[in-house]
Amino acid sequence: MRKPIIAGNWKMNNTASEGVALVNALKPLVANADCEVVVCVPAIDIPAVAEALKGSNIALGAQNVHFAEKGAFTGEISANMLKEFGVKYVIIGHSERRQYFGETDETVNKRTLAALNAGLTPIVCVGESLEERETGKTESVLDKQLTDGLKGIENIADIVIAYEPVWAIGTGKTATSEQANETIGYIRKKIGELFCPKCAEKLRIQYGGSMNAGNCKELMAMPEIDGGLIGGASLKANDFATIANYNK
Ligand code: PEP
Repeated sequence: MRKPIIAGNWKMNNTASEGVALVNALKPLVANADCEVVVCVPAIDIPAVAEALKGSNIALGAQNVHFAEKGAFTGEISANMLKEFGVKYVIIGHSERRQYFGETDETVNKRTLAALNAGLTPIVCVGESLEERETGKTESVLDKQLTDGLKGIENIADIVIAYEPVWAIGTGKTATSEQANETIGYIRKKIGELFCPKCAEKLRIQYGGSMNAGNCKELMAMPEIDGGLIGGASLKANDFATIANYNK
């Protein structure tokens, strides 16, 4: 019912030509994947990668978007600028942006609404730190991120949520499949309360945090997990393709 979505987050890796080489290697490897396959690339790589992806089953994503339509926001990129190059998805509120670039639930909300308004699909990242998990605050942290970050969305199933426990990102420490399943189940329940239970059932929720070619099958076998947001392992065509072909 919910089509799984495997998205790569290249972060600040790959020049445009390296990005093109990577997607050219990836295209034949994921051509028969049953899930949606997405690569979220650095903004400056978008034109070249968009061209290279033409005619393939890989969708293009960005890693951030500004909330204003246009104007005096030096260095920023609007949703319409992304759309013009065929961008379909945009990561919003990644923990690195929350940690290093002052992203808050309020700005996540503004970006999410702006992306939806322009017809982009936001991949909204939420997740707790290690300290928050160890002190029993996981649910209250998620409650706030979901309540404040997703306010005013008309059709919640139009977005994708990525549950990314901060302690599992880029650390090699993966949440166990049970932990990830349980927390994503919690997120779905909360979305049901905030929006509607039926919409929550339609919403795709990914797991992100050191997902790789070795652990993807087990994670993807869990009933609540609808895909992955993949950092490190998305930089190698073979590894990312193994994840996208997790059910083969
Ligand atoms: C991410 O950047 O969203 C991520 C999950 O990174 P990694 O897979 O490297 O942990």
